[in-house]
Amino acid sequence: MGGWAIAIHGGAGVDPNLPEERQEEAKRVLARCLQIGIDALRASVRAVDVVEIVVRELETDPVFNSGRGSALTRKGTVEMEASIMDGRGRRCGAVSGLTTVKNPVSLARLVMENSPHSYLAFDGAEDFAREQGVEVVDNSYFITEENVGMLKLAKEANSIMFDYRVPLPVVDTCSGSAGSIMATVDDALQMNGLPISIYAPETVGCVVVDSNGWCAAATSTGGLMNKMNGRIGDSPLIGSGTYACNLCAISCTGEGEAIIRSTLARDVAAVMEYKGLGFQEAVDFVINERLDEGKAGLIAVSRNGEVGYGFNTNGMFRGCATEDGFMEVGIWE
Ligand code: ASP
Repeated sequence: MGGWAIAIHGGAGVDPNLPEERQEEAKRVLARCLQIGIDALRASVRAVDVVEIVVRELETDPVFNSGRGSALTRKGTVEMEASIMDGRGRRCGAVSGLTTVKNPVSLARLVMENSPHSYLAFDGAEDFAREQGVEVVDNSYFITEENVGMLKLAKEANSIMFDYRVPLPVVDTCSGSAGSIMATVDDALQMNGLPISIYAPETVGCVVVDSNGWCAAATSTGGLMNKMNGRIGDSPLIGSGTYACNLCAISCTGEGEAIIRSTLARDVAAVMEYKGLGFQEAVDFVINERLDEGKAGLIAVSRNGEVGYGFNTNGMFRGCATEDGFMEVGIWE
C-alpha cells in the first residue's frame, strides 16, 4: 500500500495570456481546497467522503465553473451536472440539468446512496433534491456578472466555449485581398479574441486514494458557456468524465463531446486492467492515443498511492499531493 494521494482540477484549456493575478487567484483557491482534502485524509476520512467535501468547496467558490459561477446556457440560465464514483464496490451517482441545487456533487452522492438509480436529470433530479432536503437556492445565485459578460461575447461570436476563447473570424487566405485580416482556421483557434479581464477557469474535479487503498472520483460543472439547453456533457457520465474502481480514480475536463467519444476516464482503468500498463503509462496512453488534439485533460490516482495527470490543452488548473509530502499546484506543462 502506497499511502494516500489526492489530485484536484479546475479545468483544462487555459488562455496563455491569462493575467498573472487571475492565475494567482485560481492557484490560491486550488491550494486552499487541496489543503482541505489533505487535512481530511490525515484525519482518516474515507476517499468517497473526501472527494465530496473538496468538490463542494470548489462548487461554492465562484472562481470555477461549477455551482456558483457556472457557465450559462443560451438562455442565460444555469444547468449544472455532477457525478461521484466510489471505487469500493464501483458504486456511482450522477445528476444533470440542476437549476437550484447548491451543491450538485452532494445530490449525486445521494442518488448513489438513497435512490435505486445511478443517474437523475432535470425535473426528476430537482424533485429528488427536495425529497432529500438538500439546500436549494434561486437560479440567480449561480449567475455571476462575469459569466453574463462572457455569454454575451460567446453569442456575438456564435461560439460554444469550453475554454472561454472566442475564435476570431476566419478569412479565406487564398481570396483575401491585400489589407484584409489573414487568419487561417489554425490561427483563429490559437488566438484569443476576448478581453482578457473576463476570462475565468472551469469545471472542477477531485480524485483520491485513501490510506486503505480505496479510490474515489467526483466531477462537477456548469458545462460549456452558451451550450444548448438540455445539453449533457462528460462530467456526469460515468466512464467519460468520471470513473473509479479498485485500481484507480479519474476525473476529466475539457471539451465534453471529445471526452465522451473517447470514454476517457474508463479507458485509463481499462488499459491498466486489460493491457497491463503502469499507472502513468495508462494516463499518457489515453491522452496521446485516445483523445483529439487540444481537447482535454485528466487527473488520476492509483490504489498504490500514485498521483498523475495529463492534458493536451494549453494548460490545466490542478493541484496534487501525496502522503510522503509531495505537493504541487500548477497551471502549465
Ligand atoms: N467537460 C466540461 C463539459 O464539457 C467542460 C470543462 O471541463 O470545462 O461540460
